[in-house]
This record gives sequence, C-alpha cells and structure tokens, in this order.
Amino acid sequence: MQWLMVTGSFLLQLAALILVADFAGGFVHWLEDAYGHPDTPVIGRLVIRPNIVHHHHPRRFLHYGWLRSSWDLLCVAVLMVLVAGWLGCLTWRVWVFAGLTANMNQFHKWGHGSRRENGPFISRLQDLRLIQTARHHAKHHTDPKNVSYCVVTNVLNPFLDRLRFWDTLEHVIWKLTGLRRRADTSVNGQGPAPEWLRAEITN
Ligand SMILES: [Zn+2]
Ligand SMILES: [Zn+2]
Repeated sequence: MQWLMVTGSFLLQLAALILVADFAGGFVHWLEDAYGHPDTPVIGRLVIRPNIVHHHHPRRFLHYGWLRSSWDLLCVAVLMVLVAGWLGCLTWRVWVFAGLTANMNQFHKWGHGSRRENGPFISRLQDLRLIQTARHHAKHHTDPKNVSYCVVTNVLNPFLDRLRFWDTLEHVIWKLTGLRRRADTSVNGQGPAPEWLRAEITN
C-alpha cells in the first residue's frame, strides 16, 4: 500500500509541475506576443523578433537545431538550478521544472512537426494527449492569434480561453497603464510585415 501512496504522490506532483511549467511558459509567450517590441535593446533581437518570425512563418524554426532554439531557455533553467542550489532547495522538483523550462520551445516545435518529423515516440505521446497535439496548437496560429499560448499540454488552454484570461489581463493592463496590445503583423488586416522580416528570413 505504501508504494501506491508514494507512486500516486509522485505522479500528482509531476502532473502539477508540468501544468505550472506550461502556465509559466504560456505567460511568457503571451507577454512576448502582446507587449514584446522588436526594437527593444537586446531582448528585441534575441527573443521578440524570432517570435514575430514564427507568427509569419510558423514552420521555419523546425529547420533549427535544439540549441539554436533553446539556448535562452537553457540559460534560464541553469540559473534556476544554481539559485536553488545556493538556497539549499535543489530538489527533484526543481530539476524537473528546469528540464521542462529548457525544453519549452521543443514542445512548441513538436506542435508544428509532422508525425514523420516528430518520430514514433513523440507522436505516441501526442496521441495519448500526454503532450500538446498539432491540432491543438493550430488554434494559436488562427487569426486573431490571441488565444492558446500554452504549448506543453492540451489541458490549460481550453480553461484559460473560456475564461478569457489573457483578454482580461490585457484589459486590466490597458485600464491601469493605458498600454495596448501590439498589432500582430501576421494577422490579416494588422500588417504590413515589418521591413526587417525579409532580411531575417533570408539569413
Ligand atoms: Zn505566439
Ligand atoms: Zn507555434
């Protein structure tokens, strides 16, 4: 009986960690999509531009290797592990959370890959709905591209979208600061595409 309790507790904690990481990743994705500016120093070029390129050319990042797509998230994950170690709380939960963080963009890439590109193992995980499916992620790339920001599972987006969670956050920010969501130039009627995009995609 003891082992059942231990296994059950482990699986529950693992599921909770996956959902928290999925939400955290979705939150950062929403921040980038809604308020990230391509001309912001450092972050603009390193993070926001690739994000805008992805909205214009969703499958383009599949040509890049893991490190090119994930180096920034890897830095964040290493920092998490170092800080947790320094604070004396480097548990398996921190390792799992850091691992999910480092691979957030990889989950996103699987959401764009074909079954052949993803391979049988990842395709099986998608079939079992243990990780996000391509059909589910496609909602994020449907105009006006302002829902379904979480990319790890199919679990959170339906709740958040039904609650109009992101819309409400944007409304509160607008009321408090006067700041509006930036136009997404990949959405019909919100263009034209920025000048720098052409140079970016020929690189
Ligand atoms: Zn997006
Ligand atoms: Zn995508």
